[in-house]
Amino acid sequence: MSERAAPSPQFAPAMTTPIGTHARAPVNVVLIGPPGCGKGTQAVRLAERYQIPHISTGEILRSAVRAGSELGRQVAETLTKGSLVSDDLMADLVRAHLAESDPARGFVLDGFPRTAGQARALDDQLGPAVMLVILIQVADAEIVRRMGTRRVCDSCRLTQSVADAFHPDSEPCPYCGGNLVRRPDDEPETVRHRLATYAEYATPVIEHYKTRRTFAVVDGLQHSDKVAAALGAYIDQFGAMK
Ligand SMILES: [Zn+2]
Repeated sequence: MSERAAPSPQFAPAMTTPIGTHARAPVNVVLIGPPGCGKGTQAVRLAERYQIPHISTGEILRSAVRAGSELGRQVAETLTKGSLVSDDLMADLVRAHLAESDPARGFVLDGFPRTAGQARALDDQLGPAVMLVILIQVADAEIVRRMGTRRVCDSCRLTQSVADAFHPDSEPCPYCGGNLVRRPDDEPETVRHRLATYAEYATPVIEHYKTRRTFAVVDGLQHSDKVAAALGAYIDQFGAMK
């Protein structure tokens, strides 16, 4: 046994609060925007900046299946049948996830709510807590262009972006020399179809939020660093106003 005395309290490791969470109100953020607007990337950056959990619906579905909970079994069953997870089931999953997270910190939600009904359910769950809803706006033509330049390497599977004037034969994967191929999901026709589907469900969600003082629109055409800066400035400014 060590002869050394236990550290006196003043030398005990301080119960530190992670940077960004000290003495501030919870940061509750909902990011909405079309597929390809970059909200997944921005959600990750916000989660790091504010030390809050990133709640993406894709990850929730995967973790529910992994956990094998009752909800997870329902998800697995639905996905095995090749069906889409219903709005109600998705709302239950997000509710369960939020209930486990620390309300004093907050969250960044990515991919939810998808419907006005889910938006109302989220309002009910959060009660009086302030929630910032930010739409990352990008024109359809730009999304089609962005997706059109996305390639996945058929060897190392890394997804990367290529120049607009891309010649598949002359430009192999810079990491492994494999062939860069376009995923079927990124074909312009498919992207346009996804954008149309998105508009159908997103319009009522935007209607639900757009008259609130906590609703903001950020230009997603800018470089992703500028988008991140705009999101941070909005969140910080809103925090300072409270
Ligand atoms: Zn490769």
